[in-house]
Amino acid sequence: MAKFRFLALQEIARRKPVECGERPRCSVVFGENVFSMDKMRHYLSIEAYKKLEKAMSEGLAIDRGLADQVAAAMKAWAVERGVTHYTHWFHPLNGATAEKHDSFIDLLPDGDVIESFDGRLLVQQEPDASSFPNGGIRNTFEARGYTAWDPASPAFINNRTLCIPTIFVAYTGEALDFKTPMLKSLAMIDRAAVDICQYFDKDVQRVIATLGWEQEYFLVDEALYNARPDLKLCGRTLMGHSSAKDQQLEDQYFGSIPARVTAFMEELEYECHCLGIPIKTRHNEVAPNQFECAPIFEEANLAVDHNQLLMSTMKKVARRHNFRVLLHEKPYKGVNGSGKHNNWSLLTNTGVNLLSPGKNPKSNMQFLIFLVSTIKAVYEHGDLLKASIVSQGNEARLGGDEAPPVIMSVFLGNYLSGMLDELVEKVSDRKMSPDEKTELKLNVGKIPEIMLDNTDRNRTSPFAFTGNRFEFRAVGSSANCGGPMIALNAAVAEQLIAFKRETDALIEKGVKKDEAIFQILRKYIIESKPVRFEGNGYSKEWREEAARRGLSTVVDCIPALKAYCSEKAKRLFVDNGILSERELEARFEIKNEIYLKKLQIESRVLGDLVLNHIIPTAITYQNTLLTNVTALKNILPDYESVADVQIEAIRTISYHIREIQTMVSDMTEARKQANAIADEVARAEEYTEKVRPYLEKIRYHVDKLELLVDDEIWPLPKYRELLFSR
Ligand code: ADP
Ligand code: MG
Repeated sequence: MAKFRFLALQEIARRKPVECGERPRCSVVFGENVFSMDKMRHYLSIEAYKKLEKAMSEGLAIDRGLADQVAAAMKAWAVERGVTHYTHWFHPLNGATAEKHDSFIDLLPDGDVIESFDGRLLVQQEPDASSFPNGGIRNTFEARGYTAWDPASPAFINNRTLCIPTIFVAYTGEALDFKTPMLKSLAMIDRAAVDICQYFDKDVQRVIATLGWEQEYFLVDEALYNARPDLKLCGRTLMGHSSAKDQQLEDQYFGSIPARVTAFMEELEYECHCLGIPIKTRHNEVAPNQFECAPIFEEANLAVDHNQLLMSTMKKVARRHNFRVLLHEKPYKGVNGSGKHNNWSLLTNTGVNLLSPGKNPKSNMQFLIFLVSTIKAVYEHGDLLKASIVSQGNEARLGGDEAPPVIMSVFLGNYLSGMLDELVEKVSDRKMSPDEKTELKLNVGKIPEIMLDNTDRNRTSPFAFTGNRFEFRAVGSSANCGGPMIALNAAVAEQLIAFKRETDALIEKGVKKDEAIFQILRKYIIESKPVRFEGNGYSKEWREEAARRGLSTVVDCIPALKAYCSEKAKRLFVDNGILSERELEARFEIKNEIYLKKLQIESRVLGDLVLNHIIPTAITYQNTLLTNVTALKNILPDYESVADVQIEAIRTISYHIREIQTMVSDMTEARKQANAIADEVARAEEYTEKVRPYLEKIRYHVDKLELLVDDEIWPLPKYRELLFSR
């Protein structure tokens, strides 16, 4: 095995950047592989195009006749580009993307072959999808699922296949994907936000959520990856002593990007641009071999699709450059993990960013409603937001001293935070005097000035206001952004609806509109105050303070996931038609199952690796020492004082081997006992409590052995090699 490690290192020493030569400018290739509205115009009749445009902007159903025309247009465009197959492309709840390719081939009665694709095939497919996670929604005897076209996200070409973004539902109509509830949550926040905007501007007819994700990831050389079964099977290293140097000098962040990585990024960006993903930034992240890319923000549904597409494109392109991309939240112990910051805001059809302070008191009142409602949403549904981002991988990242804490709090910056507190003082329940009102409005009008100075960035907050948007930082790097976006959209929409209802009630009682708004703002600011936190989210004091404030400090995945089944979550999702009770439970069950399986796999892989790789290697080295000591004994009468170091090492090796061996047996026994528990949730909790601790305990001894054993026979690539080979 050690041979593999050294062959890999030799291979890496010979690697050169995989250059791809000249490429056209991004403005030329952008969206080349996307069947955008622009392209449709060329392939559809004017009449059909207008009909489609209207249906899209008003969210109307697309009839079969129009679907036939769109399908014909898509096929014509795709076939001209050498496309042979089509697929419905969807996001099942395992977090990946799924596709089942069908050829355009069709046989005519006379035996002739044509390429065919019609509206029926565009609009709906019936994949036999019985092995997608369904949380008990689908019985095997009705294993069918349906995919249905999402016209809001354009079709694209990937690997000579026409990919049609779709939703994925069970035979019984229940959602089995992220997109279905995502679209419903977007519709909910659209309606709720438009209603608020109507207080200020009658021209606002539509509000979209915007999302700009920042994707962090690690690259590792393919040869080293192949020599690490834990990376291959679990996506993270289960052992490995930290490298003498890793990120302590902080010399990686924003440093110059290594040549092989630059070549990879250039190709990735090129592919993304062809797919219409507006990738804009790239840089080194804090840990060695950790990087980040981010696009220009887009409408949230499209942005989620684009992030899913990015992740699969990354994997494909990385291989061409002899890299593997690690999307796991914590591939290496002791260095930073990877997240996916979700920058989120709301944008009106009139071009106003509702989370951007405006130029006058009126627009700032509107801004304050959206700001305060978002804070209140995080306060009310912090548990749900947490449930939407926890996973087995993210569990290892969250709560560390370099990732957002698991306590959901909102960071505003001192100025804005002070401004809200001031508003509470200035507004009162009794009728305000004209002077008081003027002063208040003047203050509110000053926000933009203040914001310009407000450059503080609190990196320790899971949910931070960054001047014109909120940044949800707790999302895991491998996650589908849909999960957290559904929760956030719905939670904020619920608050906006309540805000409107309460304000209208005051107006009906005769309170002037402005004053009514100020009063409800005041109420919401007071109510949501406990969730606001400006200090160091990593500190121990904050954990204690948060508990006093009644915020959830739950760290473990399964207890956190239970928020999906809380009464509060049900009221939010079920009452607003986003997810039914059954769908909600299914989501919880699926997440529970995935957690359990991943932990089980890690435990097994660790057991195999230590028994088959580590212990044999340690014994081999111990034998070398024994031979040495025996030889010394033969020639030196005082060998014991000469060979004391070797003798001590022999003992230490035996000690670690024994510890490892015993703990692996105990861990296996713990798994057996846990596996006997019929209830899946109880089983997952038993795994957390009884199996999970062994992973760290066993690792401790393996890492000690790594420091002891001759480097030449150590089988697994070491951290310094994984983190610094590029
Ligand atoms: P930083 O690292 O400083 O947070 P980046 O430039 O890496 O900034 O990423 C910021 C992300 O936020 C980008 O994807 C950007 O497009 C996005 N963003 C900016 N404004 C908005 C907005 N109004 N709504 C959603 N996302 C936004
Ligand atoms: Mg950011």
